[in-house]
Amino acid sequence: MNERIKLIKPYISFNEVSTELEEIFESGQLTKGQHVAKFVKSLTDYTGGQYAVPMTSATTALTMCLKVLGIKKGDKVAISDFSFPATANVVEDVEATPIFIDVDKDTYNMSVDDLRSKIDDKVKAVIFVDALGSPSGLDKIKAVCEEFGIPLIEDAACAIGSSIDGVKVGNLADLTCFSFHPRKLLTTGEGGAILTNNAEYATWLDMKANHGASGLRGKVFDFVDFGYNYRMSEIQALMGWKQVQKLDGITERRNLIANQYAEILEPLGMKRQQIAAGVYHNIQSLIFTVPETVQRDDLIDYLAKHNIESTLGTYCLSGTTFYSNKYNTIQPNAQWLENNTITLPCYDDVDVQLVANTIKQFLSQHAKT
Ligand SMILES: *Cc1c(COP(=O)(O)O)cnc(C)c1O
Repeated sequence: MNERIKLIKPYISFNEVSTELEEIFESGQLTKGQHVAKFVKSLTDYTGGQYAVPMTSATTALTMCLKVLGIKKGDKVAISDFSFPATANVVEDVEATPIFIDVDKDTYNMSVDDLRSKIDDKVKAVIFVDALGSPSGLDKIKAVCEEFGIPLIEDAACAIGSSIDGVKVGNLADLTCFSFHPRKLLTTGEGGAILTNNAEYATWLDMKANHGASGLRGKVFDFVDFGYNYRMSEIQALMGWKQVQKLDGITERRNLIANQYAEILEPLGMKRQQIAAGVYHNIQSLIFTVPETVQRDDLIDYLAKHNIESTLGTYCLSGTTFYSNKYNTIQPNAQWLENNTITLPCYDDVDVQLVANTIKQFLSQHAKT
């Protein structure tokens, strides 16, 4: 039997950071140093966004975006329904009401028509999710937000390195949130960042993430507001900076691997996540829908028996126990996608032939009962 094929592998090794790590330990400067400054600058240089504020995760980043916009109890926030639960949880956290917007069955991203039909005076923000890293349709949602004067937050937890018409994610929405969790293709262990072109937002977010400190009062910090500690360490920032340097190469290679999979699997009835014209997808995750004749869970089990890790695409938020009990508004396309999508291993040395052939065997042997 083949060696276990994992779903993901981080693009960072000890050898790449060992010299600087030693320097960090020797200097004793473990936070608020040159590496955080360098990483922040690399994020703005890379994305074209004007300001970057490091955060402890995409979840804290999203929460702070809602706070900087003043979202509060009684407000509604329209969110993409095919995502990781954090997208909805942050809305609950500020005591606003999530409005679940269904997604397009081909791109997996927020449906413009469904958003339009659910906008009312109480909708004070939209959180668009780049499903599995793809910003397909963001431009259309942005146009609707501008028409109604609603701020647009992009949950780009998975989307660093993606772009629309050459403009990178991080420079597309009012506020963009990245995640650097190990499941994402750029990782700092845990971590996140907010990108924005709005100087006022950036100043406020930076102050709030640093205990409410802004400038000096005499020779000591001036604490102008209450705040939090959402800072990133020098070690995390070093890891992040290293990966920004090689990000484009990583996403290009992931695209080549994704195409190799598609060539074998699409003729067998597996359909890949579709990408809108002008969109470059970083392939954070490589997703296919299974043919109607088979059960997705049977395929995941079959692959696991053959030592190949896979998982579902992502979740229908309105269908989770908590949100379906509370709001009872399950969105049909998001639910269908949760049930019928599969994420396949996609990284440099993955054995595409082996994975694809195993899927081929499964499809020829199994039909839905
Ligand atoms: C991973 C993920 C998050 C959460 O990111 P953390 O950094 O772990 O908080 C939020 N939204 C989406 C779409 C994600 O994929």
